[in-house]
Amino acid sequence: MPILQVIEYPDPRLKQVSNPVSFADEANLEAVIQDLFDTMYDAPGCVGLAAPQVGILQRIVVIDSSRNPKFESRHGRVVLINPSVERQEGEVIAREGCLSLPDLTANVKRAQFISVRFQNPEGIEKKIEASDFEARVILHEMDHLDGILFLDRVASLKTDVFRRKRYAQNEGKKEGDGARKPVGEDSLKMQEIESERSSNR
Ligand SMILES: [Zn+2]
Repeated sequence: MPILQVIEYPDPRLKQVSNPVSFADEANLEAVIQDLFDTMYDAPGCVGLAAPQVGILQRIVVIDSSRNPKFESRHGRVVLINPSVERQEGEVIAREGCLSLPDLTANVKRAQFISVRFQNPEGIEKKIEASDFEARVILHEMDHLDGILFLDRVASLKTDVFRRKRYAQNEGKKEGDGARKPVGEDSLKMQEIESERSSNR
């Protein structure tokens, strides 16, 4: 199965609202889902991918939060089609990254608990309840379906956005020079921080 190219900010497709999947005319839905998983698993540590990130403007998300051993994952590998948040509670601020913004991470506020309705690949209505890291992964990927990136969610672009330093170190460059990253190297990697803690100085 092909590994698809992940499009990166500021590609205008990342700002578009994706179309609902209508199961009637989705002959290639299974193949798209498989390609999304293959592309996600090809990126080290990547725990979620939304179809618009590979230029497919359809409301399809794949996640596997069990790839990050630091956090609890209740559901592992899940496909969410036409997802919508039914209920959310609490607030947590934590660090997020994104394959489409490979050089940056940011502190982003998300709900702590969510209940999400969606359809599975067979078109059957389902519901998933998730919390903490797994909820964050789902909400981050769902944002992509509405053309929202984590940069749109940060409280302050000045203090809540960080350059990934390890890429610069890996390539032996000086930090802060807009280091390039190897293709496909990143993902949705996060570190929990205390919700009230202020940004790095
Ligand atoms: Zn993302």
